Amino acid sequence: MYDYIIIGAGVIGSAVARELSKYQVKVLCLEKENDVANVQTLANSAIIHAGHNPEPGSLKARLSLWGNLLYDDLERELNIPLLRTGAFVVAHGKEEEKDLDKYVKICKENKVPGYQLLSGQQARKIERNLAGSITKVLSLPSTKVTNPWEVAFALMENAIENGVKLKLNHRVTKIIKENDFYLVEVNHHINFKTKNIINAGGVASDDIGQMIEIPPFKIKGRKGEYYVLDKRNIGFINHVIYPLPSERGKGVLLTPQVHGEILIGPSSEFVDDKHQASTTQKGLEYVKEHSKELAKNIPYNQIIRSFAGIRSTSTYDDFYIQESKYNKGFYYLGGIESPGLTAAPAIAKYLINDVIGVQNHYLINNQFKPYRKAKVEFHRLPLNDQKRLLEIEPKYGKIICKCEKITEKEIIDAIHGLLGTHTIKGIKKRVRAGAGICQGGYCEEKVMKILARELNLDPLDIIYDKDNSKLFLSESKVEK
Ligand SMILES: Cc1cc2nc3c(=O)[nH]c(=O)nc-3n(C[C@H](O)[C@H](O)[C@H](O)COP(=O)(O)OP(=O)(O)OC[C@H]3O[C@@H](n4cnc5c(N)ncnc54)[C@H](O)[C@@H]3O)c2cc1C
Repeated sequence: MYDYIIIGAGVIGSAVARELSKYQVKVLCLEKENDVANVQTLANSAIIHAGHNPEPGSLKARLSLWGNLLYDDLERELNIPLLRTGAFVVAHGKEEEKDLDKYVKICKENKVPGYQLLSGQQARKIERNLAGSITKVLSLPSTKVTNPWEVAFALMENAIENGVKLKLNHRVTKIIKENDFYLVEVNHHINFKTKNIINAGGVASDDIGQMIEIPPFKIKGRKGEYYVLDKRNIGFINHVIYPLPSERGKGVLLTPQVHGEILIGPSSEFVDDKHQASTTQKGLEYVKEHSKELAKNIPYNQIIRSFAGIRSTSTYDDFYIQESKYNKGFYYLGGIESPGLTAAPAIAKYLINDVIGVQNHYLINNQFKPYRKAKVEFHRLPLNDQKRLLEIEPKYGKIICKCEKITEKEIIDAIHGLLGTHTIKGIKKRVRAGAGICQGGYCEEKVMKILARELNLDPLDIIYDKDNSKLFLSESKVEK
C-alpha cells in the first residue's frame, strides 16, 4: 500500500514527488510515457516569468511569484541551468502604451521586483535589434529562462534518491475507490493500492478525474507552435521580448534559451485533439508574422527546427489545486498551463503543506538529501580539468555530436544514469546530442550504435522516441 500515488511525471508531478520525499511516506509516481517530461514540460517557452500577467489575487499570481524565487534554490540545490535574462514587454504607439500601464498596475499589485518603464530609445540602447516601431517598454528584471525538462529530471532524480518510486510506461487506466484506499489500475491489468492520489496528469487531468467523478473543470487544448533559431545568433536579443498580452495569452515572444538558441513563438490555437502536438503551416506563419513586431532583421534563414506544445487551458479560470469534494484523498492539479513551469516548485509546496497538510500526518524524513550533483559537460570544462578527466576515462576524448561537442562518455552516463534512457530522443534531452545545427544528421546513427551496445540490444530495435518509432525496418547489407 502506498501513501501517495502521483499520476504524471511532468514538472509538476516531479516537483510534488520531491516535496513529498521530505516526509516518511511511501510514494509511487506513474507515468504513461517512456520518459519524464515528455508532454507539456517538453514543449514550452522555458521562461520563469516575473508575474506581469496573472490576475492579482489569483493562485497563478501568488504561486508564480513565489516559484520564480524558488528557482534560485533549485539552481543551488539541484544544479539546474538558469539564465537571468530579464524581459521587455513592448508597446507600439499611444494606444498600446495605455495598455502597457495596465500591466504596470498588475506588477505593482503582484509586487513584481524591480519593474520599470523605459522609452523605446532607452530600450533599443540595451537591445539593439528591437523593432523601430516600439515606443515604450516595461522592463521585468526578475524574468529568467531555464531548461524545462532538465528541471523535471533534477526534481525527479532527487525524489528518487530520497525514496520515491517511478514507473514509466505505466498509463493509469482506471481508478476504483474502496473504503479507505484507492485501487489504481495501470495498462488495463496491473493494480496498485494507495491511500491518496495526486492527479498531475496535465492535459489529461480532467480525464483522470473522470475515472472517479465528474471533474470540476474541463481541459481544452491550446496549441503553441515555435521556431528555433540556431545558436550562431546568440546575443541577437538577450532579454525575453513579449508583446502586450491578449485574450490569446502572452503572445508570440522572442526568448533566448540557456544553450544559446532563440525561440520564436508560440502561436495560440484551440485544438480538438489535445494529445496531438504537430506543427502546422498556418501556426508557423502566424509566428513569423507576429514576431516582426518585436525585432528587426530576424534571421529566419537560420531556423533549425520547429515544434509545438499543447497548453492545458482549463474552464476554471485559474490553477485548480484542491482535494476532490466527493472523494477524500484525491487531489487535483488541474489547468496548470503557463506559468506552470514558473510556479512548479511553489505549486508542490502549496499542495503538500497547505492543501494536504502532509506535516500533520507524517514524520519528516531526516535522511532527506536536497542536493543533486552536476553532470559533466566536458566541453565547458577548463582545459586542465578536461586533461585530468581524459586520463581517467578516454571516452571523454571521443566527440559523438560535433555540433554540441558531446562526448561518448557523456552519452554512456546518460544511458545508465538514475533516469536512464533507451531512446535517441532521451539522449538528446539529457546531453543535447542531436540538438545542434545538423539536428542529429551527423550523430544520430552513432548514438543509436552506442545505445545498442550499452543496452545489449539489436540496433534494429533502437527507437527514436515512442515505442513505434523504430529507425530501421531491416538490415540492407548483412556481412557473411
Ligand atoms: C506552448 C506552451 C508554452 C508554455 N510556456 C511556458 C513558460 O514559458 N513558462 C511557464 O512557466 N510555463 C509555460 N507553459 C506551461 C508549462 O509548460 C506547464 O504548466 C507545465 O509544463 C505543466 O506541467 P505538468 O507536469 O502539469 O504537465 P505535463 O508536462 O504535461 O505532465 C503531465 C504528465 O502526465 C502524464 N499522464 C497523462 N495521463 C496519464 C495517465 N493516464 N497515466 C499516467 N500518466 C499520465 C503525461 O504523460 C505527462 O507526462 C507553457 C506551456 C505550453 C504548452
